[in-house]
Amino acid sequence: MAKTNAFKTESQKLLHLVTHSIYTQKEIFLRELISNASDAIDKRHFLSLTNEKVTSDGYKIEISMDKEFKTLTIKDNGIGFTEEELVENLGTIAQSGSKQFIEQLDKNDTNIIGQFGVGFYSAFIVAKSVKVLTKSPFSDTGYVWESDGVSTYQIDTYDKTDVGTEIILTLRDNIEDEESETFDQFLDEFEIKQLVKKYSDYVRYPIYIKGDNKPLNQMTPLWKRSKQDIKEEDLNAFYKHQFNDFEDPLHVIHMNIEGMLTYQALLFIPKKPAYNFYSETYEKGLQLYSKGVFIQDKNKDLIPDHFKFVKGIVDSSDLSLNISRELLQHDRQLKKIASNIEKKIKSELEKMLENDRERYITLFDQYKNTLKYGIYQSFGVNKELLQDLILFKTNLSDEYITFKEYVSRKKEDQKEIYYATGKSKTQIMNLPQMDIINEKGYEVLLFTDEIDEFMIQIMNSYEELPFKSIQTANLDVTDEIKKKEVEEKAKTHHDLLLAIKENLSGKVSMVKLSTRLKDSPVCIVSGEGLSLEMENILKQMPNSQEVKAERILELNPDHKFFEVIKKVYKDSPEQLKNYSTLLYNQALIIEGLPMEDPLEYITAMNELLLK
Ligand code: ADP
Ligand code: MG
Repeated sequence: MAKTNAFKTESQKLLHLVTHSIYTQKEIFLRELISNASDAIDKRHFLSLTNEKVTSDGYKIEISMDKEFKTLTIKDNGIGFTEEELVENLGTIAQSGSKQFIEQLDKNDTNIIGQFGVGFYSAFIVAKSVKVLTKSPFSDTGYVWESDGVSTYQIDTYDKTDVGTEIILTLRDNIEDEESETFDQFLDEFEIKQLVKKYSDYVRYPIYIKGDNKPLNQMTPLWKRSKQDIKEEDLNAFYKHQFNDFEDPLHVIHMNIEGMLTYQALLFIPKKPAYNFYSETYEKGLQLYSKGVFIQDKNKDLIPDHFKFVKGIVDSSDLSLNISRELLQHDRQLKKIASNIEKKIKSELEKMLENDRERYITLFDQYKNTLKYGIYQSFGVNKELLQDLILFKTNLSDEYITFKEYVSRKKEDQKEIYYATGKSKTQIMNLPQMDIINEKGYEVLLFTDEIDEFMIQIMNSYEELPFKSIQTANLDVTDEIKKKEVEEKAKTHHDLLLAIKENLSGKVSMVKLSTRLKDSPVCIVSGEGLSLEMENILKQMPNSQEVKAERILELNPDHKFFEVIKKVYKDSPEQLKNYSTLLYNQALIIEGLPMEDPLEYITAMNELLLK
């Protein structure tokens, strides 16, 4: 006699949710049922070792389709259900966290179901009725459990003699309110094969289409094999297949961690960033598996932004596929794994930098902006983590060097790390401000990426040495004798300097005699705070706010040009305005900065030429 039971309240809620809101991820039911079959085989195998009632078998999972009756059947020879277990496990969500989960879950947040699975009930996403035929080694008879997934289920005895479970789904005719959208794809052998490959390739027991003798799945995931057993070409082939790249990866990291938290990770650094890497559409993340079962394609929490170029998979036996575990616990475990992965990537990159600099440079050239942005974006939190992975070229070397290398070979009396900002090495090397630097033999980091100066503003210092732009007014590299000498001259020509400043009113805050120029007549430098280069970048940003760096014009008192100006000021001061305009714009040009008023510059130049 069939017995009818009602689902427990929370199960009804979940069933309602499952059947009404996750059509977009309807295929996940197959993953869930295969995973249950695999768990059931695990249990049977384990018990067979210790309990004489339980025999072992040639374990397998078998899938069959019947187009006429629209049924899809998943059969295993796992542990099966007793009658009590049918009530307990399929009529209730027994585990403790489930109630909370359902209360927390708002209707729109159905993504989480796809990510972690709703277990057995996901069958009702695609099935209008589900039949479970089962036999446990602990009961004398088999049972059939049957339900339409609404409010009740029936259990009856059933004549099944072989231990295991057969789950028969009768597929829905079409998606609610949408006649055209059917579930017939799940009757298609090719489709089912694809899904098994996609979601369950790494299940440890063979999965067959009934009648075939070749399993659909590979069974042993690459990342579970020991490192010695994995050939490089296997890794490369796996990477290319799994992540749709046509090139081998630049670097592979294999983690096999056992302990409080057991997991494997297989991480790849692509040779080149994905085509959309620099756009908004790029999604970082690692594939997440639980015991070889695919859960999620891009888990964002597993990889920090500053390593977002890393692809790969994480498989942990400590993550439950079921919703019924506390979500918090998921979070904690994932966080721990993520933090270990971050540390591991950092140490691998450092090792590469040390042992194979050439390869590291290939990597750095591809991903330098991501690493630098990582320092900038975190307000310095990731400074320690990332700063030694950053490389720069310098005025003294065409090879990249690290901050550490800079510090180790700087001049002994040097108390700052010098840098200069520009569009290219050539442009920076031609800066007037380089005159004295070259004379003194200082090394200067060349900042040619927009992010560079923003990054070191956040870093502030390296090994307690502050960063110093050679393009600011207060660069102090001149000896006292020279300073005195220039000071005297400045006194003498006080009126001239003031007159030029007035001619450039609104453009510069100060005009002074320079102690740093040698071959160049003039340069423009910034005061404290914002640099001219940063001002320029900020101005180009969308919705930029009005920002202005302080501009200071420095004249070379030893240059012929200065002699000319002195003479002009003395003989025909009305012409000084044009000379001032010329000097100012020349300084802007060589600094690589845009001219504010090209017409004014051209007019001034023409007037002087035609004079
Ligand atoms: P979970 O697998 O995370 O425990 P499910 O909702 O997927 O949650 O399954 C509920 C329970 O039903 C399982 O814990 C298991 O005890 C039982 N079960 C499901 N499928 C099978 C099966 N094929 N054979 C034996 N028991 C099963
Ligand atoms: Mg399950």
